[in-house]
Order: sequence, then C-alpha cells, then structure tokens
Amino acid sequence: MDESHRNPDLTNIAGQRVTVMGLGGFGGGAAVVRFLVERGASVRVSDQRTAAQLEATLTHLKDLTEVDWQLGWHDWSHFEDANFVAVNPAVAPDHPIVERLTNARIPQTSEMNLFWSLNRGRVIAVTGSNGKSTTTALIHSIIQASGQRCWLGGNIGRSLLPHLDEIAPEDWVVLELSSFQLHMLDRIKARPDIAVVTNFAPNHLDWHGTLEEYRLAKQTILRWQTSDDLCVLNGNDADVAAWPRSAKTTLVTDTMPSDDAKLPIRDWCPLPGPHNYSNAVLSVATTQLVGADETAIKLGLQNFQPLPLRLQFIGEFEGRRFYNDSISTTPESTIAALDSFDEPIVILAGGYDKQIDLSSMATHIASRAKAASLLGQTAHTLKAGIVAVNSEMPVAACADFDRAFAWAFEQSSPGDVILLSPGCASYDWFTSFADRGEKFCRLVDHLSH
Ligand code: ADP
Repeated sequence: MDESHRNPDLTNIAGQRVTVMGLGGFGGGAAVVRFLVERGASVRVSDQRTAAQLEATLTHLKDLTEVDWQLGWHDWSHFEDANFVAVNPAVAPDHPIVERLTNARIPQTSEMNLFWSLNRGRVIAVTGSNGKSTTTALIHSIIQASGQRCWLGGNIGRSLLPHLDEIAPEDWVVLELSSFQLHMLDRIKARPDIAVVTNFAPNHLDWHGTLEEYRLAKQTILRWQTSDDLCVLNGNDADVAAWPRSAKTTLVTDTMPSDDAKLPIRDWCPLPGPHNYSNAVLSVATTQLVGADETAIKLGLQNFQPLPLRLQFIGEFEGRRFYNDSISTTPESTIAALDSFDEPIVILAGGYDKQIDLSSMATHIASRAKAASLLGQTAHTLKAGIVAVNSEMPVAACADFDRAFAWAFEQSSPGDVILLSPGCASYDWFTSFADRGEKFCRLVDHLSH
C-alpha cells in the first residue's frame, strides 16, 4: 500500500540491533525473539506489559540471557537505535511508536514477514473473516493424507520460524493469515502460490479504522499474485468474488466441487453446521489443485481432529448438551453456530465492543434461541436488539460470568443445547477467548460435582 516503507536487510541478521515490539501471549513474539538471538542479532524486547503479566511467555525464554528486556512500558529510547523493529500483529498501525518508526524510516517487520522472506516451501495462504483456522487445518489434513510433506502455521497459533531450515522447496506450507499479518505482508509484496479466501464481513474496525482499510488489508493475499499463481475464492460471497486479482481463479460454490467430482463431502466431514460444509468444500477445491485424489480427500476429512473452542461438545448434564464456541468473536460465527443445531438453544453471547454492527446477530438470536444470557460490554445493545424482535424471549444481562451461566442453566430444560458463542471479543471480562472457554468448561464441570 505505502511504497515509502523500508524493509530490513535479512541477508545477514547477525550483529544487527533488533527491537521486538510486543511479546504477546500467542507464541509468535517468543518465536521471533528466539529466532533473532539464534541468528546472532542483538535483541531488545519492548512490551507495555510487565514481567509479571508476561510470565507465561517469559518462562519459555529464560535461557536467552543476552536479551535486553524493557518491560512495563514502550519508550522511544527502546527503538531509536534499532536497525529494524519486529512489530507484534496486535499493535495497531496508528500506534504513536509505529508512526514514529515510519517517519524515522526505521524498517519494520513481523514474525510472518520474517518467515515469508526466508521460507523456501510452496505457500497456500488462507484468509477470510470467518473459518480461517478450520479451512487452513482441513487443507493441511488433506494434503498430509495425500502423502505430500505439509506444514501448518501462521495465525492458527504456531510459528514456523523454528522450522525454516527443515522446510524443503517442494514442501507445502499452509498458512492462516489475519488481516493484521496481511497488512504487514503488503510491504514485502507477499505472493502466495495459492491464495484462499473464505468470506468477508466487517471485523477488527478498532484496529483498521475503516471497513475499506480492513478489506484492503485482506486483499493483500491476492494483490501481488500473477497469472502464474492460483486463488480459490468463496463464490457465494459476492464481496470476495469481486476482489481484484491476476491469479488463475477457482470460484467455489457450496455445491462444488462435490457436483463435479461427485464427492460425498458432507458424509466425510465430521464438523457440524452449514458453515463448516462451506469450509470443507473450499478446502477440497484447494487440495484438488495440488493433486489430492478422492482417497486423500476422504481420509483427510475423516481423520480431521476438530479444533478446540469451535463448537466443541464438552459434555452433557441432566439432559442438556453443552457446546463451547468461545472462539466466536464475530456475529457471523455466532449466527453459524445457531444454525448448527436442531435442538432448542440457550445461548451465552456478548463481550467486548469491537464497534461492529450486532443487529443481525441479535435478530438471529431472537428467532433461533429460546433464551439469551448476555455478557460484557455489548450485553445491553444485544438485549435491545433481541427484545425489539421478540419481546417474549427471556433475556438477561448479568453482572458476571458465573451468574450468566447459572441463569442460562435455569432457563434450560432436558433436551436443550447450552451454547457459549459470544460473537464478540473477550477482553472486557476475560484475558482471552481461551480463558473464557476454560471458565465455561469449569462451570459445566462444577454442575456434576
Ligand atoms: P477464524 O480462524 O477465521 O477465526 P475459525 O475456523 O477459527 O475461524 O472459527 C471461528 C469461529 O467461526 C467458530 O465459532 C466457528 O464455528 C465459526 N466459523 C467457522 N467457519 C465459519 C464460516 N465459514 N462462516 C461463519 N462462521 C464460521
């Protein structure tokens, strides 16, 4: 997007002074620190969180005694003498330090940019507003079943930086890319061999500022491809289908490729809901491009281990079935969750306010759930939206999660599904969606003890 950005010189990392901005809790920051130290850089870490807050990550880095830790705040002095800065994807592009780095023409990179620049394998990159992780993992599962070497990484929570030297040119590398990662990848004109886009809907507007900026970041996945490359797009999503591109395109609709190849994908795929069928169809179309045959597709789908926290069945108590969909942080995913069950549903939804429109989610809850226990900052907006459509429906905005859970259980009867599918981020009541999911599981567990 902006040609004035400078990229680091990675031909010789040894001896360069590098500041890592934001260690984060998802492993990417820790992988960058270790990678840079191993390549001989002189590394400083600047994080606004304190050592106590970062403890879980820091314990994995204890052996790196030469790192200069600057924890608890960001100060320009942590950055001004750096040869380059590795910025955590959670840091917004309008952060004052980031703007100052840009003005000072200090090169910026990221965990994914470092990997991308040095990776020798063939890349299948997956993005979209919903279904990225599931689609990425399904593609990986099918390619593995086809007998080809395949690596899984990116936003799915696994840095491949430690494996750079093991990845051979003929290997496939399947990467889930977030809009934040793509925003940074634009600087290096990243060009995947195959780009896959699941769908597009408003999200992360607090980070990107506008819907247009968010879309532009996502479109990076196609931007630098040429007619030698391939892309696989969800043809049911009119927005995505119209994205500018040069790659040879496969537009996938829900009935494709099963219609063409007569593959019973629905029977083979163990994941619930029409949205997961779409993810599976997209994955099958992608893997067919790299030579996966019917046997590999069947095996890859059947052997697929559902990812945790996504419509995960966690148990049954007094005839109620509990599902943990804590990873749902978008309205579309909660709508998809509601469409995945035939049983009556008591839903726990709501959370941190990312400034996106929740009206379609509220309407869907009003028509599909039997009761709604609402959480966090968005509880009142959701309540108003639900009551406007269905004034009869029991709705509560509780003061904390324990009470919200207890109320949900009171509203339920044997045969119901109790579903945690917040459709919002977790940061107001929890430290992360994983923390939220764990607390839900614990409360379910307590019911029977
Ligand atoms: P992402 O990586 O884009 O966040 P995941 O595969 O991790 O996507 O799924 C996140 C949430 O979105 C889950 O609640 C899941 O049930 C839901 N979901 C998955 N695929 C889709 C889809 N195609 N459309 C809408 N929601 C989806």
